[in-house]
Amino acid sequence: MPTPDHQRDLLRSTRKTTHHSTDWRCTRCDKLLGANRDGRMHLRFARGHEYLVSFPVTATCRGCGTLNQASAPAQR
Ligand SMILES: [Zn+2]
Repeated sequence: MPTPDHQRDLLRSTRKTTHHSTDWRCTRCDKLLGANRDGRMHLRFARGHEYLVSFPVTATCRGCGTLNQASAPAQR
């Protein structure tokens, strides 16, 4: 059975931890690539495009073009 209240709690807790050790940054230029959320990676691109992807994650830095990979949620 769906539980909307639980989903709301989940949303609130992820927003609270957004600025806390969940950042995924480029290994070369330290640009923010995405954020770690509940075992998945939240990627944000220009013009409002957002993606929620599961690990392992590969993304190209839009600053320097380096291909970054995160293989596990625990990685910083
Ligand atoms: Zn970079």
